[in-house]
Amino acid sequence: MIQRERIADNVYSFQSDIYAQVNAGAVIGPSWAVLIDTLAMPEESLAIREFIEQELNVPVRYVINTHSHADHAWGNCFFPGSVVIAHPLCRERLNTDGRKFLEETRHGNLSFRNVKIVLPEMTFDEGELNLRVGKKTLTLMHLPGHSADNVGVLVEEDRVLFAGDAAMPLPYIVEGDMDDLVNTLKRIGKLGLENIVQGHGDIVLRGEIESFVRDNIAYLTNIRKAVRRSAKRKYPQEFLDEVGVESCGKSRVLMTAINA
Ligand SMILES: [Zn+2]
Repeated sequence: MIQRERIADNVYSFQSDIYAQVNAGAVIGPSWAVLIDTLAMPEESLAIREFIEQELNVPVRYVINTHSHADHAWGNCFFPGSVVIAHPLCRERLNTDGRKFLEETRHGNLSFRNVKIVLPEMTFDEGELNLRVGKKTLTLMHLPGHSADNVGVLVEEDRVLFAGDAAMPLPYIVEGDMDDLVNTLKRIGKLGLENIVQGHGDIVLRGEIESFVRDNIAYLTNIRKAVRRSAKRKYPQEFLDEVGVESCGKSRVLMTAINA
């Protein structure tokens, strides 16, 4: 149901087989662990909890939500002993849109009957927040663009970035901003990383990071150019309908579901 990978000493990533290859992560300390995102389905959140608490024998003390979307933050309720950390906007969105969307989802899907929205208790909006987990230092930073509330988590010692949806195989903007996403990608490119755990899809390896950043920025720039060109046409929508993913410099990415 979930794929687990050990990325560095005491650093893990988890990928959903069910929903859009969404990723979560964990950093394990000697007496407690930090979870980064919760995946989409309750049974996936519970499988992660079982691995950390039963196999690694530490409780999850903090859950970081990279942003408010369902596939990243709805599993908070399965970690009742932990403190949830996020951007203040994430808290606000979970409290409004999140509650509404969960109510709607419950009607059509029994698996969500035990899911409750749990709001972040600890938030930060400017600068960075550091969290020490055993010998590791986590730096939480605001990486807006996909959504305005997106934060990334850098494991300083291992140079591993859990980027949330700031990094996706195909850049995707939901309640976000294109200029912000370009700036965020530039910032990611300068962090000197070993790995990027994207919000969805495969881990980006050191040798791939430069082209990942360059290609994703080029894709966004090409979309912007196409939109500008369309504005000069008599039928802009028809012009844009003809503009494909490939002509903007990326390949199509097959995922198991949309609305990520
Ligand atoms: Zn997502």
